Amino acid sequence: MLRNEQYDQILREYDNRRFQAKFEQDRRKEEAYRLIPELKELEEKIISLAAESGRMAIRGDDSSLQQLNERIRELMKEQERLLMEVGLPADYLQPKYQCSRCKDTGFLGNEKCNCLKQAIADMLYSDSNIRANLARENFDLFSFSYYSDDYIDETIGLSPLSNMQKIVAGCKSFIRHFDKKHDNLLFTGNTGVGKTFLANCIAKELLDRGYTVIYLTAFRLFDILEKNKFGKDEESSYDASRQFDYILDCDLLIIDDLGTELNNAFTNSQLYVILNERLLRQKSTIISTNLSLPNINATYGERIFSRIASSYKVHRIIGEDIRLQKAIGGGKQC
Ligand SMILES: [Zn+2]
Repeated sequence: MLRNEQYDQILREYDNRRFQAKFEQDRRKEEAYRLIPELKELEEKIISLAAESGRMAIRGDDSSLQQLNERIRELMKEQERLLMEVGLPADYLQPKYQCSRCKDTGFLGNEKCNCLKQAIADMLYSDSNIRANLARENFDLFSFSYYSDDYIDETIGLSPLSNMQKIVAGCKSFIRHFDKKHDNLLFTGNTGVGKTFLANCIAKELLDRGYTVIYLTAFRLFDILEKNKFGKDEESSYDASRQFDYILDCDLLIIDDLGTELNNAFTNSQLYVILNERLLRQKSTIISTNLSLPNINATYGERIFSRIASSYKVHRIIGEDIRLQKAIGGGKQC
């Protein structure tokens, strides 16, 4: 559960980021002024004109205001020119924020910026620890060398390699059209064929583009569902329902290893709520599982099965266990 103090901790981190950005900016300014003393005069002019412009805006003096702002832009252009002359980037005097959208405030007006939503989600689901995995599991490190081209799988009519090439192309298209299509993916296949790896590759790409992503193993998700039902501990639940909100509302939810959890009638009905609600909200979900579609039907029932069968693109990954291949030094390096 996210407690007040945890939320405060996140906001303090944002304060730190802004402080750090200002600190670095001041340091760069000092350095640039030393190299180009003229810059400082320009900066002082800009500051006094900006103050003047503020006063004019209050008086409603529109035509002089426009002239003044035009003058400010010219002076800033002049600054940029001087910086580039000595080989510094044009934006050298500007603050560098981690999130340029909210300038590390965490808010756009009264709305939480996606970066803050993600920070909260990361804290809520800190066990899932997706960041550490993403450094190792992303498209840059993805290798087709673990997928054989030596035989054709009869059930799909493709070699494991051609099949995987097709799936990766599908994943990249999923990322490209993420905003418009709201697709959902189901990765099925045996243990170790790269289902989680692929889901993490997608997570990394979308996080980098500023989307909110929650990764949960099915085991952990069902654990959260159980605790939300039974955990009535007011002390620790600053916002129990909020936790569920994030599962319903994040841009991408990844449920990894469905079928390995301890499920029961209650958790199954909750899973249905999640999958159904996310479809209604046009939020994408990725599920990975060892189960085949008929097995999903048998384990979770008709309602969940039909949601998945009708709204998910099913990708069956075929191949040998990659962890095993690595252990015995397999996989053709390319
Ligand atoms: Zn932001």
